Amino acid sequence: MKMPAVRYQRGDMVMGRWPGSSLYYEVKVLGFDAKSSLYTVIYKDGTELELREQDIMRASGFTIRPRSRSRSRSPGRRRSRSRSPARTTRRSSSRTAPAVAAAAITDGTPSSRRDTRLKDSLEVRLSPLPQTKAAENNSNNKHEKKEENNTVNEKSEATVEAEPDRSQGRYNLRRRKDDGDAKPVEAKPEQLEEKDAKLAAAPAASPTTPLDFGGKIGAYFWLLFLPAWVLFLVLQVNQEDPSLTTFPPPLPPLEAFWDAQALGFVILWILFQVLLYVLPVGKLSEGMPLRSGERLKYRTNGFFAITVSSLAAAAAVHQGVDLTYIHSHFLQLTVACFLISVLLSVYLYVRSQYAATEQLALGGSSGNVVYDFFKGHELNPRIKEFDLKFFCEMRPGLIGWCLINFAMALAEMKVQRLDAPSYSMILVNLFQLLYVVDGLWNEEAILTTMDLMHDGFGFMLAFGDLVWVPFTYTLQAYYLVSHPNPLSLPAVAAIVTLKLVGFYIFRKSNSEKNAFRRNPSDPNLSHLQTIPTATGKSLLVSGWWGVVRHPNYLGDLLMALAWSLPCGFSHLLPWYYMIYFIILLVHRDARDMSECRRKYGSAWEEYCRTVRYRIIPRVY
Ligand code: NDP
Repeated sequence: MKMPAVRYQRGDMVMGRWPGSSLYYEVKVLGFDAKSSLYTVIYKDGTELELREQDIMRASGFTIRPRSRSRSRSPGRRRSRSRSPARTTRRSSSRTAPAVAAAAITDGTPSSRRDTRLKDSLEVRLSPLPQTKAAENNSNNKHEKKEENNTVNEKSEATVEAEPDRSQGRYNLRRRKDDGDAKPVEAKPEQLEEKDAKLAAAPAASPTTPLDFGGKIGAYFWLLFLPAWVLFLVLQVNQEDPSLTTFPPPLPPLEAFWDAQALGFVILWILFQVLLYVLPVGKLSEGMPLRSGERLKYRTNGFFAITVSSLAAAAAVHQGVDLTYIHSHFLQLTVACFLISVLLSVYLYVRSQYAATEQLALGGSSGNVVYDFFKGHELNPRIKEFDLKFFCEMRPGLIGWCLINFAMALAEMKVQRLDAPSYSMILVNLFQLLYVVDGLWNEEAILTTMDLMHDGFGFMLAFGDLVWVPFTYTLQAYYLVSHPNPLSLPAVAAIVTLKLVGFYIFRKSNSEKNAFRRNPSDPNLSHLQTIPTATGKSLLVSGWWGVVRHPNYLGDLLMALAWSLPCGFSHLLPWYYMIYFIILLVHRDARDMSECRRKYGSAWEEYCRTVRYRIIPRVY
């Protein structure tokens, strides 16, 4: 885009005054709006503002002073510094100042007080986002190197001061586009006072983070709806005719929901998985850098866990254990897992209250108890080295899914008096087993996914991992137990082909992104084109991630189709997963788009312009 003859050009690194203050920060010019005569600039923490020309200066016009507390002669500053307990940790908080300042600007605080607060918060000078090791390694990568050069002085933590400007209130603070309808949570003066230290210490709790899932009201809704929906599905699939015409399914007597033995089996299963997880077998993998720059270690021995679990299940059957118990007590097992997920969520929420602010999840720190309980307040809750989120995501539910499917194959043989499971049942079992085994084989890849990197661990994930996955993803196998759907060999071949195509796209695209995120200068990826971003990371713009913005979702959807097809078309119920998955991935894509736009700003816009379709080429 060619800009009109203006003083600063797009891409220029200049010094921009922070609204209402006399402090200048390095900013990058993103554009100029001739109508309003405002420049759009981006600060290093990702905040975009519109500034007037007189609030922008060339760096050469200043004496740049390194950050030094002792240089401040402002008594007010000295006083506030000594008061705030957050001061000691602020250096690591690159987003703090804008977040707090934005809150101060948008609230109705009387100006003198606001000024004090603003000034107080602005003492936190912007510092570069923590550079990841990957990003550091990245200096070999020419695109990233270019970006490093573009963001000159990125590493110099310098702030300059000029004569104070008295004309406060004439700045145009532009909210990020992706904030959409999400309203910034306005901090009341007294809240601001209390929260200042917390916010200043941790960008994690940015009050402007948009709320997902319908916000606070949505959280109430989902808390009630999700368990009710699982209950409905479990009761519905148990019916002789699980069609919509038999809606709602009859409710069994209350005592049918509860079985202490079922709860006991679930606890034993979880403990068994805990044991396998903590065994010093398998690799210790490093997660992505946290906001603090720290990288957590994860025991990625999921493949070992599923292998031992399969052997244990086979041995149990060989010893005469009747695994069809799982089929006959499906409802009670579901309720037992639900109970555990609720208790776990309560524990997670309570412990999150004691977590350091930088350990909180960006998206689960709204300040609303119900929303944060639902969305997950703490990002990586751990008991010593035991990572609760990672464990729940990858072990009891996921491996439990395969165990339940296996039990359904045994139940099918029992109910239909077969010598071997049907083709349909074998396909469903093998397809889903492949999916899980692949996930566990490539367990390290989950460390770069949204769940691990961004979502806190709360009810949403606990319920999802322990109830939703094992008891709704198994509906196809459950359905086939008493609703046979014979398949011809050509049909089997067609479905297998579809599954393999989906799997290929899914695996290749996920591996490509994972490898790139782990080592952007990986020689195997040197042929790929990338777009640099202001954060130091780049975006892949060719290869799988140049076909659509979520090629992994495309592969996943094709596989989901292959899971439903063996169940035929007599009922909608076995297609439930396919329908749900479309909704889930479309919503997830939107969430991710929003998050990436927030993180990468104009670079993400450029990526979207280059790669126009989200999931299905030329369709969506
Ligand atoms: P992704 O693995 O697609 O991760 C999204 C992240 O990838 C973005 O936030 C961004 O993070 C990074 N990214 C996006 N575009 C690019 C690009 N062009 N170049 C480099 N990095 C990019 O999302 P999910 O975590 O949602 O999914 C992971 C897998 O799990 C998928 O295969 C999905 O289908 C599957 N899944 C399955 C579910 C199930 O129930 N069966 C449920 C949910 C997901 P950053 O830039 O910060 O690295």
